[in-house]
Amino acid sequence: MKKIIAFNFKMNFNYNEVRDYISNIKGKLNNKNIVLCPPTIFLPYFISDEYSLGAQTISEYDNGAHTGETSCSQLKSIGGSYTIIGHSERRQTQEEDDLLINAKVKKALESGLKVILCIGETKEEYDMLRTSKVLKREISNGLKNISTNLLENVIIAYEPIWSIGTGIIPSNDEISKTIDFIIDTTFSTYKFRPIVLYGGSVNEKNIEQLNQIENVSGFLIGGASLDSSKVLKIKEVVEK
Ligand code: PEP
Repeated sequence: MKKIIAFNFKMNFNYNEVRDYISNIKGKLNNKNIVLCPPTIFLPYFISDEYSLGAQTISEYDNGAHTGETSCSQLKSIGGSYTIIGHSERRQTQEEDDLLINAKVKKALESGLKVILCIGETKEEYDMLRTSKVLKREISNGLKNISTNLLENVIIAYEPIWSIGTGIIPSNDEISKTIDFIIDTTFSTYKFRPIVLYGGSVNEKNIEQLNQIENVSGFLIGGASLDSSKVLKIKEVVEK
């Protein structure tokens, strides 16, 4: 199976930067397993057959009176096929809890989107050896009451929060063990064996090493997304 590389631009770029970025990547990605997740306002500028398009979050509601939100059907109408849900920044600064995340996952899957569900522990939880407990809770609550046939469109992104944007990364062995735990836990809870991505300070320099982890099915990348030359280098290494 081809690895998935999802690039999350977060709340970065203005219109001129978007235009430059798009001209830099034009004709160079050519892989539908590469998912670009620009800010919602710029999603339409990224419409292309050369890669997949995703949102950074999505509404749990259908269309209607929900000021400021973006619906699954709106995303789909411009060709979007993925959405990230439960990113730690939304869990923390938008106070999204497991219940809301579960509602979003359900709505997105029922709408035919692929979901990248982010899970991961804080530094404090890691230090207190609570990683397994946190991941188990996030898996169990995030995927609750979802019919088995829809679960095949769920991709889990393991993102230790203490690794996001810090340059600190667990060893390959540690990532591998945690991903085995995620796969086993998801299977024992929901009889579904998920694809698992790693996210946290992945860049063009460490991708070669991280790409050697056998049970990692791809990457979710923040900071390095913002430089198209880094994106192209990461793509080259992962596709090798
Ligand atoms: C992220 O925010 O999901 C992320 C992985 O960010 P970074 O690559 O910058 O650590």
